[in-house]
Amino acid sequence: MVAGPDVYICDRCINDAAGIVRSDLTTHKPTTAAAPARRASSGRRLSPLEIKAALDEYVVGQGRAKKALSVAVYNHYKRVEGDGFYPDFEEVELEKSNILLLGSTGTGKTLLARTLARILDVPFSISDATALTEAGYVGEDVESILAHLLHAADFNVERAERGIIYIDEIDKIARKGDNASITRDVSGEGVQQALLKILEGTVAGVPPKGGRKHPEQSLINIDTSNILFIVGGAFDGLGEIIAHRISTNTIGFMAEGAKKYDKNDPNIFQYVEPDDLLRFGIIPELAGRLPVVSALDKLTEEAMVDILLRPKNALIKQYQKLFAMDGVDLVFEDDAIKSIVGKAQALGTGARGLRSVLEDTMLDIMFEIHSKKDVSCCRITAGTVDHRKDPVYEVRKASA
Ligand code: ADP
Repeated sequence: MVAGPDVYICDRCINDAAGIVRSDLTTHKPTTAAAPARRASSGRRLSPLEIKAALDEYVVGQGRAKKALSVAVYNHYKRVEGDGFYPDFEEVELEKSNILLLGSTGTGKTLLARTLARILDVPFSISDATALTEAGYVGEDVESILAHLLHAADFNVERAERGIIYIDEIDKIARKGDNASITRDVSGEGVQQALLKILEGTVAGVPPKGGRKHPEQSLINIDTSNILFIVGGAFDGLGEIIAHRISTNTIGFMAEGAKKYDKNDPNIFQYVEPDDLLRFGIIPELAGRLPVVSALDKLTEEAMVDILLRPKNALIKQYQKLFAMDGVDLVFEDDAIKSIVGKAQALGTGARGLRSVLEDTMLDIMFEIHSKKDVSCCRITAGTVDHRKDPVYEVRKASA
């Protein structure tokens, strides 16, 4: 008999128990127990409808861009995972569907890309095309954008290779005119050339700490063929190019009937064609590697109001949470919301302006609210927004 605290077991039972444990270990390997959970949490591919519905929770409007993104992402992961073996299509190779988002600043390009990555549970990084230069010149190599993704994936190369990279300000690396000057265009065309390879899919040597490739630094190889690239830019001046093309397309006797397009039409980007991008200064090879082009709409007043109130982490909800932590209900009157939107629109930075107007309005109030111990409700009026009038405070009734 072997004695433990309050229990005794005999030598024969020990042998039997050990046998049971041993046979259990061989039939139920620990990995099989963990695998179904992993598959359930991240394995199921979302349908375009589900992706769009998830985007709707965070991003207001931009229906067409959301649809284009949902389908492109759905197809991208179909391509990555390979859906079994289809003998009829053995020789058909699915090409990558990198995405180009056109739209003025603050319309939600970055937000869309970021939300997508969150929905898909893949690593995500944002890089700025303006920081890049052709290899060998002052600035960052294009491989640095892969280094950012590797950081986001906690240096898990396998995860990084299925991530999403958003490259902002792609319009700023447009070619600077047609005539070859004596100086090389190292931050424009040079960068576009360098981006081609990684957008298409290559194995790139990435300096793990970012920065330049130093000879003494060991590089990590990353295969970019399954990384989804979303590039975006405001493309100032593209509207003019599109309007000019549309207005002058009809040549000849019917020319008088040609419709004149206004370059200031807020939704002119909808009519974009690859040719317009080339004229803007994107080299044909790069345009060819961005097969999905989608234009974002200018935000209307209605959309701005929605952005303030509706998304899961809407700005107003965030402030309400902050106030709730001080035990105060924060209420915005309808007119106050209208004033905030009006002021933000005047800034011309899209929805980004909403945050700065709100910060400006709320600063003094937040500075004082903690010391107003008896206040239970703070009501923001249009006067508070427009003329810095004090909000209306409601005082907590003294408890008996
Ligand atoms: P950009 O188009 O310049 O990349 P962002 O996506 O960075 O703009 O948007 C800036 C901020 O404005 C975001 O943090 C987000 O809160 C807000 N925003 C912009 N567009 C939308 C939108 N369509 N829906 C919800 N919020 C938006």
